[in-house]
Amino acid sequence: MNREKIVVIDFGGQYNQLVARRVRECNVYCEIYSYRTNLEQIKTMNPKGIILTGGPDSCYAPGAASCGRELFELGIPVLGLCYGAQLMMHVLGGRVGPAPVREYGKIEVTVDKSAKLFGDVSEKTICWMSHNDYIEEMASGFRAVARTKDCPVAAAQCEEKNLYAIQFHPEVLHTQEGTKMIRNFLYEVCHCEGNWKMDAFVENSISAIREKVGSGKVLCALSGGVDSSVAAVMLSKAVGEQLTCVFVDHGLLRKNEGDEVEAVFGPDGPYKLNFIRVNAQERFYEKLKGAREPEQKRKIIGEEFIRVFEEEAKKIGAVDFLVQGTIYPDVVESGLGGESAVIKSHHNVGGLPDYVDFKEIIEPLRDLFKDEVRRAGLELGIPEKLVYRQPFPGPGLGIRIIGEVTAEKVVMVQEADAIYREEIAKAGLDKGIGQYFAALTNMRSVGVMGDERTYDYAVALRAVNTVDFMTAEVAEIPWDVLGKVASRIVNEVSGVSRVLYDVTQKPPGTIEFE
Ligand code: GLN
Repeated sequence: MNREKIVVIDFGGQYNQLVARRVRECNVYCEIYSYRTNLEQIKTMNPKGIILTGGPDSCYAPGAASCGRELFELGIPVLGLCYGAQLMMHVLGGRVGPAPVREYGKIEVTVDKSAKLFGDVSEKTICWMSHNDYIEEMASGFRAVARTKDCPVAAAQCEEKNLYAIQFHPEVLHTQEGTKMIRNFLYEVCHCEGNWKMDAFVENSISAIREKVGSGKVLCALSGGVDSSVAAVMLSKAVGEQLTCVFVDHGLLRKNEGDEVEAVFGPDGPYKLNFIRVNAQERFYEKLKGAREPEQKRKIIGEEFIRVFEEEAKKIGAVDFLVQGTIYPDVVESGLGGESAVIKSHHNVGGLPDYVDFKEIIEPLRDLFKDEVRRAGLELGIPEKLVYRQPFPGPGLGIRIIGEVTAEKVVMVQEADAIYREEIAKAGLDKGIGQYFAALTNMRSVGVMGDERTYDYAVALRAVNTVDFMTAEVAEIPWDVLGKVASRIVNEVSGVSRVLYDVTQKPPGTIEFE
């Protein structure tokens, strides 16, 4: 497949994935590579353009992340952002030093509208700054094309060599016209065609899978989550009944969720796939007996999941391919793509599971960001309700129950959560809040109901807004909605007599409640 490509070179900045997403939103495919990647490798990818990200170093300090002069002499357009901009100047003979006035946050920038990057941008435009250093002196051949009150070179260009430097962060949404600037780089400077489109991606993937699989047998573990659902449907469109999906119901799903998954993927659903639902609730509850530590519970659930899946796979016999719902952030965060430290090792990246007899792995979503997975899902005709479902942890309610998990507690948290979600939707808030759910605390307290003393559990409600899941703020749900939810939970869920609202942001909290 001849996809035009932009290479994003990662200098350890916090917005590296954001840069890549913005590029893709402009219909241009891109990939992130560490600044340590050798130049030959980048050359063979034949990119239409290169973008250098921000980074924490000072480019003039010893040991700072760097690149050779040759990068700027390939004849490929380069756009440096923040650290990338400073580095471009530094490497090409300009001077970068500590800024007399450091800029953080939204700053008004005055741009030169005759510059290619800013043709359709307002002359005065709000941009997101985050820097300690600044460009004191541009490299020769460059001219400044944007400035702020305190920063004389907020952007610079050397048009004949197609080199562009921006001190602020166009990739961050606070930069009001940032997408325009990125688009201008892609289309006015790199002359991209814009052939990264979801319908084409889906179509190409289906025929590539079909070719690869031939008459082979394919196995997929379906969790009901967005990634595995999209992967399964894509596979089923490609190879139909050669695909078998195993759905393990561990008894820690949200209320009715198992049936909902079955309704879509089971024999009565629209997809022609072999669907096996394993009702393993009791097994999981049994294994979880006495386990109180969240990590311990995660481990038990993870291992038991593999055991169950393995048993089912054995019944099916040897398969040729195993499907995994790996997505691009998993690849990057596993340290395989960019420069970011290994944040978490995803068991589905790199290592192959050894518990199923198969020849090869298929990861049809490996190149996609989450929002692209969703768009691919819609493209494949998966119901919106499934495509936009709330993120849900693999160990499910097992970690939204503090302390020991029991079948009774699972029912309490399922019921409470269902009421919460129902009322949020009724109030029209469901699209506006990032993530919300109920958890069951391990606290019991004295109450009075019908003149009788009770000693029951407390449910905690959580609702947060987040853009990237790295930080989150508490969503402000109106009191009347919270009040309604609280009284319904206490009235309708037996064993619960108190409702608490969690007002902790992340950090220091996490989004989950475990
Ligand atoms: N570390 C550099 C500075 O402080 C670049 C920062 C960035 O890329 N956001 O100026």
